[in-house]
Amino acid sequence: MNNFTYTRATSVKDAVQRATSDKNSLFIGGGTNVVDRLKAFLDEPSQLIDISRLQMQSIERMTNGWRVGALVTNTALADHPEIRRNYPFLSRAILSGASQQIRNVATVGGNLLQRTRCPYYYDTAFACNKREPGSGCPAATGINRMHAILGASEECVAVHPSDMCVALAALDAVVEVEGPKGKRQIPFVNFHRLPENTPQKDSNLEAGELITAIILPPLSWAKSGVYLKLRDRTSYSFALISVAAALEVAVDKIKDVRLAMGGVAHKPWRANEAEKFLIGKPADITTFTQAANIALQGAKPLAHNGYKIDMTKRAIRRALMVSAQGGGIV
Ligand code: SF4
Repeated sequence: MNNFTYTRATSVKDAVQRATSDKNSLFIGGGTNVVDRLKAFLDEPSQLIDISRLQMQSIERMTNGWRVGALVTNTALADHPEIRRNYPFLSRAILSGASQQIRNVATVGGNLLQRTRCPYYYDTAFACNKREPGSGCPAATGINRMHAILGASEECVAVHPSDMCVALAALDAVVEVEGPKGKRQIPFVNFHRLPENTPQKDSNLEAGELITAIILPPLSWAKSGVYLKLRDRTSYSFALISVAAALEVAVDKIKDVRLAMGGVAHKPWRANEAEKFLIGKPADITTFTQAANIALQGAKPLAHNGYKIDMTKRAIRRALMVSAQGGGIV
């Protein structure tokens, strides 16, 4: 860990001002990923700006959905009775991640900004384009069973590690941010980036911008939503692949659908083409099989992760089938 100054922000404006005047500063909320990165010399900030005391801890009903403060903990969001009632698959996605102790401290804003768990990124004995652009990507030809099958580039084949973000992508959430140029809202699906030739950038946040809240739009049929996560062990493990799915079915035909995947790309992956295909079709296994094939059409496996293609297709079929039957725990 390098030497840095520690400051405690007194307001969102103060935090933004401090970050804007020192481009090498880092915000810290729950710190569950930031501290790991500091200890491993992955981030070497000159200033750590503690935002944990700012007033961003509330979950509020709006005329149009819910507003979740960026400092709401994973536990508080997952356990909130209205979130459990209205967005059960968001709650289940959160509870499938990390451990109870980590979820008690980790924040919603920090969840969006956690970085990949690619082992080469965390081991500074290896080159890594995300750590040091232009140095190389050993995962592309190394051990890559956990890596991307969609949207990867020659520069980086890492996946985004979050479960919560897969559900937020399916819900068409909106990210509220405040920065030196004022406030703005970013549609969730545009918040994270694909690696392309800038793998060092995970999101479309600009310098000095701070996440202040997440907006959950109303979606009455989100109650049928399902989050299915497949992993090496059943707790405290990142997804090999995951699926968030919600269906609105009327008279046996699919009226509307949301489908997103995790563990397959550098960002939560929304299956837009599969969603288009599903609308108006009968809610049966034949339709779901076809949709799963469409969702994985562009998949390009690496040497060790070809298994993810069939695994994801099966998970999509299963998640859609359970959602068609009203949702619940898969
Ligand atoms: Fe680094 Fe990305 Fe390659 Fe992993 S996949 S070694 S994070 S460049």
